[in-house]
Amino acid sequence: MSSPAQPEIPAPLNDLKIQYTKIFINNEWHDSVSGKKFPVINPATEEIICHVEEGDKADVDKAVKAARQAFQIGSTWRTMDASERGRLLNKLADLMERDRLLLTTMESMNAGKVFPHAYTMDLEVSIKILKYCAGWADKIHGQTIPSDGDIFTYTRREPIGVCGQIIPWNGPLFVFTGKLAPALACGNTVIVKPAEQTPLTALHMASLVKEAGFPPGVVNVVPGYGPTAGAAISSHMDIDKVSFTGSTEVGKLIKEAAGKSNLKRVTLELGGKSPCIVFADADLDSAVEFAHQGVFCHQGQICVAASRLFVEESIYDEFVKRSVERAKKYILGNPLNAGINQGPQIDKEQLDKILDLIESGKKEGAKLECGGGRWGNKGFFVQPTVFSNVTDEMRIAKEEIFGPVQQIMKFKSIDDVIKRANNTSYGLAAGVFTKDLDKALTVSSALQAGLVWVNCYLAMAVQCPFGGFKMSGNGRELGEHGMYEYTELKTVAMKISQKNS
Ligand code: ADP
Repeated sequence: MSSPAQPEIPAPLNDLKIQYTKIFINNEWHDSVSGKKFPVINPATEEIICHVEEGDKADVDKAVKAARQAFQIGSTWRTMDASERGRLLNKLADLMERDRLLLTTMESMNAGKVFPHAYTMDLEVSIKILKYCAGWADKIHGQTIPSDGDIFTYTRREPIGVCGQIIPWNGPLFVFTGKLAPALACGNTVIVKPAEQTPLTALHMASLVKEAGFPPGVVNVVPGYGPTAGAAISSHMDIDKVSFTGSTEVGKLIKEAAGKSNLKRVTLELGGKSPCIVFADADLDSAVEFAHQGVFCHQGQICVAASRLFVEESIYDEFVKRSVERAKKYILGNPLNAGINQGPQIDKEQLDKILDLIESGKKEGAKLECGGGRWGNKGFFVQPTVFSNVTDEMRIAKEEIFGPVQQIMKFKSIDDVIKRANNTSYGLAAGVFTKDLDKALTVSSALQAGLVWVNCYLAMAVQCPFGGFKMSGNGRELGEHGMYEYTELKTVAMKISQKNS
């Protein structure tokens, strides 16, 4: 099969101007009620890019009023044809394509994403998500049901209402579109809170929402901090659903707040400590590369990171050797510059957390094969790090690191590795590498994970449901199933004089 043509990658904009720094409510730009602003940092240089209005509870309340108003029965949005919602989403995708270079430059500068990666992955995926959901807008429907009695029964999939969407800093654009597009396709209205580290592309997207022609109040973007603006969303009495992507720790707070307030619907996409299992019969070159990409992609700041790599005993030493050679090839630096493979971690807090976990690995007896410390003294960079001789009880084998740190463990038998792979409270993703179909099927059905990749890793697609087992989350995003997470199912049973088969 030929692979799809890759777009040519232009150079980043060198005169990027940040135009949008305010709160977006009712298709208008607002100052924060408190008058406060917060700084937005470039993680590669530690310089302040700009200041953004800091939304808090009062601003969330304003946004909820606007979103509720836009959701009233008889409103422009509620009476709009479903196909027209799809047209607006397609328009938004086209505008994103038009501003692709600007958005990529902004994402790279603010989120530390390597420019070509952001151009081909983040932007590509985000545009595809909008188009995929645009197509769904007029294909979300109920059923007629042959219920007992003289009753005509049908179901309707209705929008849930006002949806709060809390976005993490590792996917400022693709998580934003991944939540926004299905919500709008199904006819909901939204209040989006971008992560405090990375609000810029979400604010630019808000301007495109207006330009595309979405009615006022349908999309509102409130930048701000988690414990203030984020908590105001999850505990709000007039928000009907909250969708969150981020840490398991905060996911628990969100679910608790939803339970303590109005039992709003909750979708959670949380952390992981995903196992990647390589059997001795696997194609070694391919397994080394996928396992490497699986953990080093975006500086390790991905929830599906293959951060527990189990390699069969007989190929262990060779696998470690090749993985170390691969990791040593990295060129670190400002992600906007050409030829860079690895950018900075998002902030000082993440940098310190990663360095602390690396130190724990050294102390607990893992063998440091390469890396193991900070890179440079400006920007939040971590050397690509590989640990071998890792055992299951070490902190680096149990805790989510969210950094460029690979843990390589050894296993002896299929039963042993299945038990060890599942011995975690997480259950997001997993990888299996083998040429033996029987092993592939046995292991992929035994693994407790929402996504299992066989002889590949990170094979995600907008058409496929994404989400975790156990403490990696609740619900699924994208794919057909992800659309339904933005609907309420209503059963309408109507008395009729006589039913016929
Ligand atoms: P990380 O630990 O990776 O920085 P978080 O889970 O803290 O990720 O943050 C993800 C998103 O959740 C961000 O938008 C953040 O502002 C928000 N957030 C953090 N704390 C809370 C909270 N208590 N309630 C709601 N949202 C929160």
